[in-house]
Amino acid sequence: MRSQDYMDLEYNYGAHNYKPIPVVIDRAERVWVWDVEGKRYLDMLSSYSALNHGHRHPKIIEALERQLQKVTLTSRAFYNSVLGLFEEKLAKFAGYEKVLPMNTGAEAVESALKIARKWAYYKRNIPMNEGNIIALEGNFHGRTITIISFSTEHQYKDGFGPYTPGFKIAPFGDARALENLIDDRTLAILVEPIQGEGGVRVPPQGYLAELRRIATKHRILLMFDEIQTGLGRTGKMFAWQWEDAKPDVLILGKALGGGIYPVSAVLANNDVMDVLTPGDHGSTFGGNPLAAAVGMAAIDVLVEEKLDERARTLGEYFMNQLKHIKSDYVKEIRGKGLLIGIEIKKEFGTARPFCEKLAQMGILCKETHEQVIRFAPPLVIEKEEIDWALERIERVLTEPVHVQAKIARSI
Ligand SMILES: *Cc1c(COP(=O)(O)O)cnc(C)c1O
Repeated sequence: MRSQDYMDLEYNYGAHNYKPIPVVIDRAERVWVWDVEGKRYLDMLSSYSALNHGHRHPKIIEALERQLQKVTLTSRAFYNSVLGLFEEKLAKFAGYEKVLPMNTGAEAVESALKIARKWAYYKRNIPMNEGNIIALEGNFHGRTITIISFSTEHQYKDGFGPYTPGFKIAPFGDARALENLIDDRTLAILVEPIQGEGGVRVPPQGYLAELRRIATKHRILLMFDEIQTGLGRTGKMFAWQWEDAKPDVLILGKALGGGIYPVSAVLANNDVMDVLTPGDHGSTFGGNPLAAAVGMAAIDVLVEEKLDERARTLGEYFMNQLKHIKSDYVKEIRGKGLLIGIEIKKEFGTARPFCEKLAQMGILCKETHEQVIRFAPPLVIEKEEIDWALERIERVLTEPVHVQAKIARSI
């Protein structure tokens, strides 16, 4: 079978909720993937930061294989001999007393919302079922009904109502406007330290620290969704560390599964997490032995290979080099560490043809929010590989646009 056959299969039998770049990946190793025809590509999307460790990291594969030989699923009806070790490692690594293990990012966000609400009703005496949580304009926290209820993106919500009440929207990056929204029923703030899906939007310097101050002052929970920014991506293990704005509730996912398996978690201290009592919440697969083994190996690799430092130094280098490219099409280049967005000026169309051209030249990335090319390579990438990419990115950003449009049409 050729690439086109696989694309046809997905088109014919799969729901059409994605519009993939036309590349059919057949195998992968570290930062490279190969399509069905054997053509090689540099992965600069990393499955939206789930592949911080690169594809099939040997240590994580080894941990998975070892666990496969022992036990893979127990449910939480019983204890298992890996979960506690994973929880201890993650709690100590991230600096919290307790861990709630889940599977996907959206589930972890949902779990955090439940914990925050219950905390408010049982510990803050906010009138039962009347609390509100403040999220930001441009947010992305997943795709469940409750989460899209406070999305500000028309398409994410359209046709999916009625929506879950209890959320307010603050403008992006404006701490004073957010504080003005707080009333006596507000129980939490939920924020991504950098909005990834929202177009790699970086809030102004000092914003996260200001949110920390506001949350403390009003005795509400500060919750950071670090599913995309956490685990080294921005050049710190957690993006909150850039401003020493440690949240009360930290939400992790994506790279916590080492690029292999869905693993997510909510972290908090006892005062918050102990609102959950047996039977309040659960997940059949959450905290399963395979997930726990993979999660432990993922944390070990992050620390051993200092992936946060790599993201910081390589990200700085990559960003500087990108800024040296003289392109008429670029409106802005922004980001932190190895999470970088290039915004294309509207008059030159969307970012999509640029991504398709890059794919043709052997670089995988994906547009986000129409105008932005997001670069988020695995943190194990080498400087020479960034240079390899830069040559091609420069070409795509400086070639006449009509050439790109034509090539985009032909693939
Ligand atoms: C990807 C992402 C999610 C959702 O994670 P899923 O595993 O796709 O449910 C939530 N929040 C942020 C910031 C994300 O980047």
